Amino acid sequence: MSARNEYPDAGITLFACEPYPFYNRIALCAFITGKKQQDHLHFHCADRLRGDGIDARWGEDVESIDPGSGSVISKDGRRWGYDRLILATGAVPTVPAIEGIDNRGVFTLWSLADAIGVRDALVDAQTVAIIGGGVLGVETAVELANAGKKVTIFEAGDSVLPLHLDRISSGMFGEFLREKGIDTRLSTLVERLETRGAALRVIHRDGAGLDVDMVLLMAGASPDTRLARSAGIKCGDGIIVDSHMNTDVAGISACGNCAQLDGERNFLWNPARAQGEIAGANAFENRREATSEPLVIHLKMPEMPLFVCGSPTFEERGDIVIDDRSGRAYRALRFDDRYRMKSAIFLFETDGFYEIEKTIRRALPVQKDLVEARDIDGIVESVSVPPGDDDYRSSGWVCRMCGYSHEGDYPPEICPVCSVGKDQFLVA
Ligand SMILES: Cc1cc2nc3c(=O)[nH]c(=O)nc-3n(C[C@H](O)[C@H](O)[C@H](O)COP(=O)(O)OP(=O)(O)OC[C@H]3O[C@@H](n4cnc5c(N)ncnc54)[C@H](O)[C@@H]3O)c2cc1C
Repeated sequence: MSARNEYPDAGITLFACEPYPFYNRIALCAFITGKKQQDHLHFHCADRLRGDGIDARWGEDVESIDPGSGSVISKDGRRWGYDRLILATGAVPTVPAIEGIDNRGVFTLWSLADAIGVRDALVDAQTVAIIGGGVLGVETAVELANAGKKVTIFEAGDSVLPLHLDRISSGMFGEFLREKGIDTRLSTLVERLETRGAALRVIHRDGAGLDVDMVLLMAGASPDTRLARSAGIKCGDGIIVDSHMNTDVAGISACGNCAQLDGERNFLWNPARAQGEIAGANAFENRREATSEPLVIHLKMPEMPLFVCGSPTFEERGDIVIDDRSGRAYRALRFDDRYRMKSAIFLFETDGFYEIEKTIRRALPVQKDLVEARDIDGIVESVSVPPGDDDYRSSGWVCRMCGYSHEGDYPPEICPVCSVGKDQFLVA
């Protein structure tokens, strides 16, 4: 859409190998348990694309790129010329090298086609093993436990959400999973999956096994660089781009989960969307530049909401960390030696997090005396400014939690997709 807004006369073709119109990947966890139906996954902008003269070709793969002649070749062998090509090929789920990984009953969950397969298999499954205790693994585990399934998480590291939580919050989160009846096996590397009649046996390194009805692989993702690599575009872990989202091949840019900017990859919606807007705006000339964004994780669980911003597990010399635990709630803030906020973890008690996130994004310093007094309530209060009505006026909005886009002067009171309040909407 950003390319269309910036270049009203450009001919734009969108190739998407999935047969479904643009849908909300984030809601797939709710889809597999039947909480959301397929109709609720599709974004309204799929129709808008057509209205805006964008030729959206759902179900049409691009098989190769010929940068020399400036064309892409689709699966049926047709050649399509381009002046400018933007790669947004996303990511592919990591399939760990485990013996028996191709057995019946083993699934990934990344695309709608995956999710339909998982949803159908869940009808007859009571016991589910999840391999991977990261964000997607624990979120899916909670969804399945809430739907009455017996869930076991296998995590190779010694804590859940090892990349995002510190020791205390990870322990508290593990406790919450146990209360939900989810068996979390830490420091447990799965070695083999064996078929036992209708069941699957998950065998881990110490030789012990667990029989389950299905296995979900949630061991991370990696940028989908296949198309770019085959065209000779420079790739590291992802497709390497500069701050204008340009690759090393003239006329070709990349954005979203497939791209690697400043050495960083991202597997989240908001950075992908922001990069897409920049790549679109820069289609024919460099008009916008990417700035580095802190990582923001939001687990959408009413019983145990979690926000993480920045990289709380990455400690640098001189950092000041303050934390506060009370009952089920935990908050931790990290500052540099100039009292600029760098990261935050808010578990269960998430009030004020939106303002904290803005403070981290802008690298703003907070009052030194509040940090030295370890006064987290005071810090949250000092950075919180109640939004006035005028702050809300714009013509397009996007939910920062689920990516739902909304047109109008004001955001909706409640997001119809993920149910967060209007303060969670960003100007589109
Ligand atoms: C179950 C699940 C839950 C998630 N939850 C969250 C969350 O809570 N918060 C969050 O921020 N993020 C979440 N994410 C991640 C988020 O969905 C992604 O970051 C986002 O979709 C990335 O957008 P993208 O456009 O870069 O890639 P994608 O959405 O992956 O789109 C890339 C598309 O390109 C297509 N494609 C690839 N190669 C070709 C080709 N050669 N020809 C044609 N088409 C091709 C792919 O099939 C794919 O449809 C979740 C992801 C999943 C799977």
